[in-house]
Amino acid sequence: MIPQDLPDNESAPHRPTTTERGSFTLAHCPCGWSGPARRSRERARTDASSHTSPSATTTG
Ligand SMILES: [Zn+2]
Repeated sequence: MIPQDLPDNESAPHRPTTTERGSFTLAHCPCGWSGPARRSRERARTDASSHTSPSATTTG
């Protein structure tokens, strides 16, 4: 077990960052989420944005 006290479980620290993997860029979040590898960095940022604020996204 990790001695870590989270103030709020719902408000998780979603701070996705884009990581460059060769010619690809993918988004990573400390919560464990990771976006797909994108050829464009902007795409990866869009994935990160959609992760922090999933409004019009459906599972699939
Ligand atoms: Zn997250």
